Amino acid sequence: MPKRAKKEKTGHKIKNCFLARLFYCIIAKKPYGSQNRPPRLPAHRSLSLPRRTFFWYGGAAISSLSGFAILLLQWYEENKRTLPWRSNPDPYWVLVSETMLQQTRVSAVLPYFRRFIEELPTVAHLARVEDERLLKLWQGLGYYNRARNLKKAAAQILAGFGGRFPDTYEEILTLAGVGEYTAGAISSIAFGIPAPAVDGNVLRVMARITGSRADITKPQTKRAFRELVWEMMPAKRPGDFNQAMMELGATVCMPNGAPCCARCPAGAFCRAFLEGVTGELPVKTKKPGRRVEERTVYLIFHGGAVALRKRPDKGLLAGLWEYPNEPREKEDALALWGFHGAAEPAGSGKHLFTHVEWRMTGQALHAGEERLPPGWVWADRRELNQVYALPSAFQCFAERVRWELGRDWKRPEPMKGEKR
Ligand code: SF4
Repeated sequence: MPKRAKKEKTGHKIKNCFLARLFYCIIAKKPYGSQNRPPRLPAHRSLSLPRRTFFWYGGAAISSLSGFAILLLQWYEENKRTLPWRSNPDPYWVLVSETMLQQTRVSAVLPYFRRFIEELPTVAHLARVEDERLLKLWQGLGYYNRARNLKKAAAQILAGFGGRFPDTYEEILTLAGVGEYTAGAISSIAFGIPAPAVDGNVLRVMARITGSRADITKPQTKRAFRELVWEMMPAKRPGDFNQAMMELGATVCMPNGAPCCARCPAGAFCRAFLEGVTGELPVKTKKPGRRVEERTVYLIFHGGAVALRKRPDKGLLAGLWEYPNEPREKEDALALWGFHGAAEPAGSGKHLFTHVEWRMTGQALHAGEERLPPGWVWADRRELNQVYALPSAFQCFAERVRWELGRDWKRPEPMKGEKR
């Protein structure tokens, strides 16, 4: 056997030997199991975190850190919601659900998740799906790059891991679109690896429990809380612990309005609650205001179909379909595209993106035999429902379009400035 292969084989044996792992942990003064953990980051020492706070529970004094994990898991068992990716913690299901849940509530994600898994049940199905179909399945969830990254990750799993889902934190972190949070969630929930998954919910809970006034949008604060969550995490149930933290943030320690402290397992020692400052925490730097864009959206109808055009491959809503629209000051857009006839007002609406706010005014036009500009299509009601992915930004015009495309719909009430 070549020397290198022999060395690798011996290393592998040691890595998988219980005594060797135990010996390593004793020498390194680390808890057993820590040799499988992702690399640790230095905690941010400027945060004053109550590691040595003790409180009374059931006649015994327990430290807030270890005691919280026990209480939290007990609370989770009694209160957790039944969710498909919890009933079946398959790494692919966890990847899809965690990607969908970024910036979106569980109740909104559920129908999307079911439809997605039904149509693309495995990594191989996802790697092969047409982009157009993938975006259609994602339509309404927003942040469409997340869907494209999911497909790239699936292709990576097929090409780089032979179709087997990677089962270490470091390997999972190499997948497209997977950051520390998602890698921590997948490795802990699907593989039982003790890795923290710290999202906005968890940061809020931690900031309130510790009474920290550090800005949670700062990377050093996130690192410090990640480190602390890691310390609290029980080696045996890391997946449940991470999910319990997320669940607590989503259902009890909520962002807007008063948190339900009376139902919280941390109520006995949560600093924000005890000091009455839950409304002030967490501290967050305000994002800069959004740029406002005034746009005119043209709903051009002909023979039971509406005109759509594809957005550029890069930038906002890249590659999605849209009703033709232009900045409001460009008043001659219809004539430039070759359409004649008078357009009528068709409602208005607004949509918030991360950095931009669109304020849209609709104009409806019944076109004659004019030809569509290159790259545009006529979409009938079926195609609009099943083929073309249209961003939810245009949802405010959906009722008018549905009525025009299928006269069985009730004509929408006239909006401000619109004549019947
Ligand atoms: S006690 Fe209240 S503020 Fe503190 S973690 Fe629980 S819900 Fe949040």
